[in-house]
Amino acid sequence: MEVYISEDAFWGLLVSAIEVYKKECFGFLIGYRDANNVFIIEHALSFQSARRYNTGVIENKRSVRRIKKFLSNIPPLTLVGDFHSHAGWGDLKGVPTPSNTDIHEMEPNTIYVIIEVNDKRKAVPWNYNDDGTLSGTTENSLPTFLTL
Ligand SMILES: [Zn+2]
Repeated sequence: MEVYISEDAFWGLLVSAIEVYKKECFGFLIGYRDANNVFIIEHALSFQSARRYNTGVIENKRSVRRIKKFLSNIPPLTLVGDFHSHAGWGDLKGVPTPSNTDIHEMEPNTIYVIIEVNDKRKAVPWNYNDDGTLSGTTENSLPTFLTL
């Protein structure tokens, strides 16, 4: 599955993850599928009423339903997926792999972006990695993006 993340969505993802680090962020991916079946993510919207923890995030189910209903009706854009972060906490390093809960909640034809955020140990320029992830340092952190 090919996914294109717009600059606007990229900044939305990055700022959401950094804002609540060392807790996890959660939000929605808005976009569409083009004629070549490529997912285009135009916007990444942070979900404000999520309860955030170091090791997870719990969304308000009623709010999620309301947002999904609204976003399913603004053609040509639609809800194409969601994103959340895994934050390094204590001695635990955040990992950009889906947890069992993540996998259990995944639906077909949906994009999931997981952003791993850890403390910055050295400056790393933004680049794609061999495993298909994208990472680079900010002032204090090292976020890595995994798109599923
Ligand atoms: Zn997760």
